[in-house]
Formats: sequence, C-alpha cells, structure tokens
Amino acid sequence: MPKINLSGVEKNYGGNSANAVADLDLEIGDGEFMCLLGPSGCGKTTTLRMIAGLEHLTAGEIRVGQRVVDSVVDGVFVPPEKREMGLVFQSYALWPHLTIERNTDFGLRLRKMPKAEREQRVDQVMKTLGIEKYRDRYPSQLSGGQQQRVALARMLAVNPEVLLLDEPLSNLDAALRLEMRAELKRLHREFKTTIVFVTHDQWEAMTLATTIAVMSEGELQQVGTPNDIYERPANRFVAQFVGNPPINIVELGDGKSEVSQLANAYLGARFAELRDAGSIGIRPEAIRLADAERGVADGAVAGQAEVTGILPTGGSWIIELTAGGEKLFMTTHQSPEVEVGEAVTWWAKSKALHVFDKAGQRMEV
Ligand code: ATP
Repeated sequence: MPKINLSGVEKNYGGNSANAVADLDLEIGDGEFMCLLGPSGCGKTTTLRMIAGLEHLTAGEIRVGQRVVDSVVDGVFVPPEKREMGLVFQSYALWPHLTIERNTDFGLRLRKMPKAEREQRVDQVMKTLGIEKYRDRYPSQLSGGQQQRVALARMLAVNPEVLLLDEPLSNLDAALRLEMRAELKRLHREFKTTIVFVTHDQWEAMTLATTIAVMSEGELQQVGTPNDIYERPANRFVAQFVGNPPINIVELGDGKSEVSQLANAYLGARFAELRDAGSIGIRPEAIRLADAERGVADGAVAGQAEVTGILPTGGSWIIELTAGGEKLFMTTHQSPEVEVGEAVTWWAKSKALHVFDKAGQRMEV
C-alpha cells in the first residue's frame, strides 16, 4: 500500500492565475526516497506544502496510509501538526537561544517524552549526524552545514514516518552538499523513513532518489527510477531537463539538415511506421568518433562532421561537432585525439536514439 497517495490534486492560488499544480496523481511508497524534480515555478514546493498540510487543495484528495488528510469533496482537512510528518525547508530555522542539544530535543519535549528516553534518543541522533561535539554550542556558533545537520537531527529525533525536505541543501557549498547527500542516503537506509525531497537539481535527484517525479508547469511529466528517467524519458521535456550536457535534439521536420536527413533515412528504412516522428534525441555520451581501428558499429547511425570545439571539463571532454550547420555535442572520458577543424565520422548505436513524435511524446522503436 502506498504511504502517500495524491489523486486528482489541483492547486490554484486564485485571481486569474494558472493552476500551480494540475490534476496530479502520484503514489509515494512506504520507505521510498521520492524526489520532486523540475524547473523553478513548476509546482514542486506547492505539492510538498499540500502534503504537509500547509496549503489547502482546490481539487482532489491526499491520503496518508488509509487516512484521508485532505479531501475537497468530503471537506476533510487534517492540520499539519496532526500529520506525523517532519519538515525541513531551505531556511532551516533553529532556535537561536537554545543549545544544539536543546534544539535536537525540541520536538521530543513537545511530545512530552519521558526524560531518560529523550536523552537516549537525542544522544543517538546527534551521534548519527556527527553533531554530539557541538551539543553545548548555540546555532550561531556553527557553520551552515552543521546547522543543516542539526535541523535534520531535530526532525529525525521525533522519528517521523514521513520526512518532507524542500531544497534542504541549497545553502551549502559543493563539497558539503555532496557530503550531506551521502549522509541523507545513509539516513534513509538506516531509518527507513519515507522521504519526499524537492529539488530543481537533476544531479541531486539522480544521486538521491529511489523514484523521481518530474514536473513542468504544474503537470507531472514522468515518474520512474533515476535510470528510467534517464534511459527512457517519456517526452522531450524530460529528455532535455535530465542530463548534463543536455541531450542533442535533432528536428526531423524540415529534413533539410544533414543530421536530420540521416536520421530520416535511418527511420524510413527501418521504421516505416515512425513517419510521424518530430525529433530525435541523442545523449552526448552515446556519440562516438570512428577511427582507423574502430570503425562504425553495425546498424549505427553515422555521419560526417567537423570538430568545431573541444572543452575540457576535468577528467572528461565535451566535443562540439558541426554537421551541415547543425551542432552535436559529445562527451568522452578519453583525451581526444582529434583537433578543432578536423573532419570526422561520428556514430551512435541505433538503440541510443530517442524518438519523439510531433507533440514531443516518446515513440517506442
Ligand atoms: P521554486 O523551485 O522556484 O521554488 P517550485 O517548482 O517549487 O519553484 P512553486 O513554488 O510550487 O514552484 O510555485 C508554482 C507556481 O505557483 C508558480 O507559478 C508560483 O508563482 C505560484 N505560487 C506559489 N506560491 C504562491 C502563492 N502563495 N500565491 C500565489 N502564487 C503562488
């Protein structure tokens, strides 16, 4: 049974505004680490706030386990404090006048847990998060990352069944973000909490989530494992939003460009039924250069191009190819043996091609 179930959920903030979230059906399984991923303004935070009970729905229903916590039709609304969920937002406000220990202890005191039990729990959580050495300090005496840990400890101490996190790592520098991601993953394994995590950072979602829900303009685009989302994007939006450098998109419509002619010929020859295809996507890492030893793989799509740029990215390279005025980007982990200005043959395995119809929806090939 899903832990959290959103069915036909809609949120409109009133006035003449478009729906911030529209007709959203989403199941979040027990113990799942679900990332809500999408660009700024797509409705991620609104969705999280509705799950938390900080926003009322304008249509639909949310259930947690068997219990309806918000239903427009039935007029049910369970307030946030009765939903047994922990929330950590980007600004993880700690109590400035309380020590780290007292901050961590805060929720347990509210719940009137007996002292001995409370102390044991606080010790355990502070140890897990590596903050026991700061127990007597005040928040202002800690770095941003340490404060972030305290905010998480405060949430975990009350052992919520569901943890709701809204870009909780966004204030941290790159190294600390990575460290905290690893820590969050470990905590998820250890505590088996159901986590809903909002981020606009596809890399963050790919590294953390067991399931990703991609949103755009208030609408759910795809739900799947990080691998599904990357390998089998449901539409052009998902294909382009996930992946760095982004996927190459070749428009098939005009059939004028060299790459599109190649792709058209390829599709025409092998997939007559795909004549409606609007575009093709090729991930940069799927493109290879042919050389004397390793030619073009059997059944691959291949074409001629000129190398028009080589961008080192530290341990890997992005190579810009120009084929008949059209740009294709490829990545490689091997030091490139080509130079800018050189004519090359590129190729990609046919199974690496993503085909989208004119409406941008994935077509199976
Ligand atoms: P971000 O990553 O920038 O926080 P988001 O994906 O979390 O974006 P939301 O904050 O959920 O997006 O916003 C979705 C839409 O709803 C946006 O168009 C936003 O302007 C609008 N919106 C959000 N909160 C309110 C509010 N309190 N009143 C009116 N409109 C709002």
